[in-house]
Amino acid sequence: MIEVTEAARHYRTSDGVVRAVDGVSFVVAEGETLGLVGESGCGKSTTAKLLVALERPTAGRILVDGIDVATARGAQLRRLRRTIQLVFQDPYASLNPRRRITATLAEVLAVHDLARGAAATRRVGELLEMVGLPASVGDRYPHQLSGGQRQRVGIARALAVEPRVLVLDEPVSALDVSVRAEVMNLLASLRASLGLTYLFISHDLGMVRHLCDRIAVMYLGKVVEAGGWRQVSDDPLHPYTRSLHDAVPVADPTVESGRAGRTLTGEVPDPAAPPPGCRFHPRCPIAEDRCRTTEPPLLPRPDGDRLVACHLV
Ligand code: SF4
Ligand code: MG
Repeated sequence: MIEVTEAARHYRTSDGVVRAVDGVSFVVAEGETLGLVGESGCGKSTTAKLLVALERPTAGRILVDGIDVATARGAQLRRLRRTIQLVFQDPYASLNPRRRITATLAEVLAVHDLARGAAATRRVGELLEMVGLPASVGDRYPHQLSGGQRQRVGIARALAVEPRVLVLDEPVSALDVSVRAEVMNLLASLRASLGLTYLFISHDLGMVRHLCDRIAVMYLGKVVEAGGWRQVSDDPLHPYTRSLHDAVPVADPTVESGRAGRTLTGEVPDPAAPPPGCRFHPRCPIAEDRCRTTEPPLLPRPDGDRLVACHLV
């Protein structure tokens, strides 16, 4: 459903070329959920925007259900918008504050020529019901809703075009901890009932481990480790993934033990001037000389379904 091959998005700025995404490859099969994990500034959100053609790649190739995202125009771009939709981190910023919810959702239906008038109002009621909201929410303005309700509306808006793929960019990070699980459960049940494919973006390895089939970890515009969710989240190999793993709070310390307490130090380096060699070397606890000069390629492990970019793994 999604095929990303060596995709890059570079920006020219007064500070030089910012390599927000710098040669990223992954695939997501139909019905599968891939978790894309990394700290802020690693290129996750830019990758999301590339997939929905809000940004165009400066190199590489991105196919969504066979549509070439870099060149899609006109009818192809409309087909892309019907196929893949983005759910934003902050639903408040993505909803028009001056419009009632019904008007916001009906506009999507009208733009895509799906329903108008009474049929649109009926369909909005159905969409709200699908995301667990009463139809009366349609009469409200965004500021009259809770954060969780607003994110449900954001999901309903994405579903209005009956897409096959959702790109979920930190969909619960802005929500109260108490409502995160509800929205995660909603996403899981929608995936099952509608047969959706997800790209789930998060800075939190613990957040993605239950929803995702596979996980890809990004650091400074590149994928550094990818594989099955259990392998990557429970037995990470790349030193960066290991530090993310150690940052996940342990719910019951008697169940999981043996964490060496590796914690991530230092800031994410400036993507306009990524470190030479392995980009993680200034923060890596086991870096060697060659790490400072030679970039490690993302290579499959001999024992199966995992890719790792590290000289020492
Ligand atoms: Fe650390 Fe070297 Fe591996 Fe990079 S290549 S993660 S610096 S050990
Ligand atoms: Mg982001």
